[in-house]
Amino acid sequence: MAKKAKGAASKSTSKGGSKAEFKAVIDDLVMGNRILYDQGVVDGYGHLSARDPRNPARFLMSRARAPGLVEVADIMEFGIDGEPVRHDGRPIYSERFIHSEIYKARPDVGGVVHSHSPTVVPFTVTQVPLKPIRAAFFYPEVPLFDTRDVAGWTNLLISNQELGRALAEKLGKNSVVLLRGHGNAVVGPSVRMAVYRAVYTEANAKLLLQAKMLGGPINYLAPEEAAIMEQGQDRPRPGHGTDRIWELLKSEAIARTGRPKR
Ligand SMILES: [Zn+2]
Repeated sequence: MAKKAKGAASKSTSKGGSKAEFKAVIDDLVMGNRILYDQGVVDGYGHLSARDPRNPARFLMSRARAPGLVEVADIMEFGIDGEPVRHDGRPIYSERFIHSEIYKARPDVGGVVHSHSPTVVPFTVTQVPLKPIRAAFFYPEVPLFDTRDVAGWTNLLISNQELGRALAEKLGKNSVVLLRGHGNAVVGPSVRMAVYRAVYTEANAKLLLQAKMLGGPINYLAPEEAAIMEQGQDRPRPGHGTDRIWELLKSEAIARTGRPKR
């Protein structure tokens, strides 16, 4: 299947990462795009990428296309400079530098989601901090990046390396960074973890909005509790955690968008 992925990489696996591992990452990338659409995290905009398991200085991402429609053949390979390894004339996302600069700054990151997930955006333009009710990965913090601070008047898009670098710096060692008036970027050690966190970032924003409507002080998740909840989250645990959620979200996404072409 990976062989059919037009522009998605050579067949060589000599730099590390087995063929099976590469195929699994491509499958997760395609399905992750559809899950993010099905869950209302992305619409026609937004994107998901994966670090290339064969070469950590590269990453994999769809050609510019609505995430709900992404197929295996859409996946392209990009260098750490954010440019396609092979320019084949297909359209590419203008905000790919969010991904390239995060992969450059964070060797621990295996997957990146950029979205304008609707309930999160209000937290990027108000004084209300996005704090954790259920999302343990919000610790140490959820920083806010503002393009005005580094580039003055822009269209708010992270469309060059300089803005991507500044965004990655603001993200620091955290898992989520907000983009003022725009959206957010969420990272994880794998594609599945990044998708899981992006879905639960939107879910936590909804819970927080509802808690605010009830009024009074909010009893947030404590950092000590969050640390315990996060223990072992990146280990595969069949039937639990991300594994259980992925199976469900995948079946829902297939019901809505159909099975991706092999
Ligand atoms: Zn955007």
